[in-house]
Amino acid sequence: MTFQDLNLNTPLYNALDDLGFVNPTPIQAEAFNVVASGKDVVGIAQTGTGKTFAYMLPILKHLKYSRQDNPRVLVLVPTRELVVQVVDEIEKLSKYINNRVLGVYGGTNINTQKQAVAQGLDIIVATPGRLYDLAVSRVLQLKSIQKLVIDEVDVMLDLGFRHQLMNIFDILPERRQNIMFSATMTKDVDDLITDFFINPKKIQIAVSGTPLENIKQSFYSVPNFYTKVNLLEHLLQDTESYSRVLIFVAYKRMADRLFDKLEALFYGQSCVIHSNKTQNYRLRSIEAFRNGEHRILVATDVMARGLDIDNITHVINFDTPDYPENYMHRIGRTGRAEKEGNALLFSTPKEMEAKERIESLMKMKIEVLDLPEDVEISTELIEEERPQIRERYNPTKRNKEDEPGPAFHEKKAKNQKVNLGGSYRREMAKKYKKPKTRGDKNFNKRNKKRK
Ligand code: AMP
Repeated sequence: MTFQDLNLNTPLYNALDDLGFVNPTPIQAEAFNVVASGKDVVGIAQTGTGKTFAYMLPILKHLKYSRQDNPRVLVLVPTRELVVQVVDEIEKLSKYINNRVLGVYGGTNINTQKQAVAQGLDIIVATPGRLYDLAVSRVLQLKSIQKLVIDEVDVMLDLGFRHQLMNIFDILPERRQNIMFSATMTKDVDDLITDFFINPKKIQIAVSGTPLENIKQSFYSVPNFYTKVNLLEHLLQDTESYSRVLIFVAYKRMADRLFDKLEALFYGQSCVIHSNKTQNYRLRSIEAFRNGEHRILVATDVMARGLDIDNITHVINFDTPDYPENYMHRIGRTGRAEKEGNALLFSTPKEMEAKERIESLMKMKIEVLDLPEDVEISTELIEEERPQIRERYNPTKRNKEDEPGPAFHEKKAKNQKVNLGGSYRREMAKKYKKPKTRGDKNFNKRNKKRK
């Protein structure tokens, strides 16, 4: 397939020619007609697959020249680096199109950005916080937005932007096309889609169900977290074969918990990355892992997405990913460049279903290994593993029947207001970011007397 098959227009063809691009990447070929159709779209694609052009080509093809000042396309991305990168890509494609593109992000002077917005624009690329601030200041009008693109949704939600996104959805016109791209499928992404998208079309370059032949996959059935740690301790003692080990866990708390355990067992040999760590910390960790200073890296799926590290001897799935595609991405980190790689999967009885989904995607069974004899089976459970205990009888606790029934009336509107303590004090608190009082008079008096 060539770009000619996509029926673009001359300005876009000329720009692509200048870039030397002839063939659309698979995600571009897949996404073009779906995005052009105007329906809501969810694309699963990683950085480096050409996803930016996948959504920008159809958008730019259909974006008519306009003199109006309010932007018509909004692209939200999680980081300022990505703002810069996406603006750059759009500019490359727009070389022969007369459109106005602006990138805005936090941590820089908002007034300069306000001036730039006031000049009028067609496409705005932004991080959520700064976009919201500009919209609230009323300099930026979002009423003409026809297309909303959210890129790297998984990272955005992992960084805790869900609330910000909802605030932005609230001020966008209801009639709009939503286009969303994510590298990994996570529960948060799934929830966002079901809550805010209308029958989205899903596009995904089929994750190959056949893993690389040079990855040896093995599986351990392990009853719980602490036994997994014991197994890990047993395996990692072999420092020679386990010389560069990437351990995947599902969420941040688990990453920290496991990292603490590893530090206790193998002091100074491991590092950790997840989205609650600062970017500097993450970069330092990755570098220490890359240059061999640390042989063990614990990572969440979302944060490991961009990792490009060779010679990983073992990928260890400390938990079993819910989405089988994530397993394929995880194990693809080893066995690269013709080297033999190893992938281990640890599953508890609860995780067996997820393991079966992985095996059915790969159309093969993973070799089962017995737990080595000297691995102690722990009976201790972590919070998430303990059965939920339901309280049977608690006389001091109100139950549903005691709740006020229909005999009670709603408070009158004026009585429903919460007393916030006078507008002057609130204004001062806002200005100084804390309540500004002269102190407790009686307290001061008492203290004076004492002196
Ligand atoms: P992305 O996945 O959007 O971050 O893009 C990765 C890189 O691939 C960018 O530097 C693009 O300029 C480049 N690229 C995008 N589409 C194509 C294509 N069809 N052929 C060759 N390179 C491309």
